[in-house]
Amino acid sequence: MTAHTISVATIHTDAVIVGAGPVGLFQAFQLGLQDIRCHVIDALPHVGGQCMELYPDKPIYDIPGIPVCTGRELVAQLQTQIQPFAPTFHLNQEVAEVAHLQDGRISVRTSAGLHLECKVLVIAAGVGAFQARKLAVESAAELEGTHVHYRLSDASRFAGHDVVVMGGEESAVAAALKLTLDAQAPRSVTLMHRRDVFAAEPALLQAMRDAVASGKLQLQIGQPTALLHNAQQLHAVQVATPEGQTIERPAQHVLAFLGLSPKLGPVAEWGLVMERKQLVVNTETFATDVPGIFAVGDINTYPGKKKLILCGFHEATLAAFGAATLVHPTRKTLLQYTTTSTELHRLLGIA
Ligand code: FAD
Repeated sequence: MTAHTISVATIHTDAVIVGAGPVGLFQAFQLGLQDIRCHVIDALPHVGGQCMELYPDKPIYDIPGIPVCTGRELVAQLQTQIQPFAPTFHLNQEVAEVAHLQDGRISVRTSAGLHLECKVLVIAAGVGAFQARKLAVESAAELEGTHVHYRLSDASRFAGHDVVVMGGEESAVAAALKLTLDAQAPRSVTLMHRRDVFAAEPALLQAMRDAVASGKLQLQIGQPTALLHNAQQLHAVQVATPEGQTIERPAQHVLAFLGLSPKLGPVAEWGLVMERKQLVVNTETFATDVPGIFAVGDINTYPGKKKLILCGFHEATLAAFGAATLVHPTRKTLLQYTTTSTELHRLLGIA
């Protein structure tokens, strides 16, 4: 699934889903069964929400009919399940603005300049948009985007430079290794972490240790204490080592993978009724107080709410029935079984 970036023209569509976590993905399936096509937007560069961001390789035991699967496997299965409805994904961008238009449609704008107008908006924003934790040293904010980065998007910009990759998780290890293998490799790549313990898959860890042994990758244990720069040009990172020394590592670029933290952010600014940072919904259709706007999954609240994937799937099903009455007002919204309904088979592309 590809990320779409800047688009100038307004996209007109039946439905927009904010959030491509497990519930947002299943929402696309349930809307599809109601003959509603949708666009899905997520702040992350990939789908899967918390399952992919927080526990991709941990087992889940309470998905009905699946005795055990990892977060990654569940997301892969959901992606396969929604294929017949071909939702359009816009990743790597946050939904920044939502406005209710006079004609009843809803206007949605993203941080990448995308503008959509839809009949129905489903907010499946979980615990908020995941954002990179920022490097907490002086000047990091000033140098962000030029010398300090939180994503490895365009590796060619590092060609011939000294790069320090910070972090102890898989994303940091993978990025450091990728840079050493790049055709336009940096002059030097240093992986830096506060201790010599890294959380990554064994094969990746072995590849990292091999790269260190062969001298392609340098390992620096310690904490960054300063970014040394002249006139906005970074030249080194000052590091406090576990032995109590202060050293300098040459660096024109720092790539920091310090984890992600969810920020409720814009959802709270869309004028919807909230209770303790969650959207209040009715349990008949999971509609919010604004007509045409639904909320499903971890972002909503109602009496008895449980933040479980299974509960989010139920909510998405009823929200799709609610959405159908708005998108297809002249049609009867009947309950049909996927086992026997020829109409649902047609929608699913089953001969
Ligand atoms: P999320 O998974 O949080 O996805 C929301 C998505 O919306 C995110 O990708 C976010 O980037 C995006 N987003 C938010 N705001 C915006 C915006 N403004 N613009 C663009 N994108 C936005 N549940 C179970 O049922 N069983 C388990 O075994 C289980 N184990 C868990 C283990 C751990 C360690 C954790 C942390 C949770 C676990 N859960 C489990 C809970 C489960 O992961 C959540 O209930 C589920 O992820 C909620 O799905 P969601 O789609 O509502 O939200």
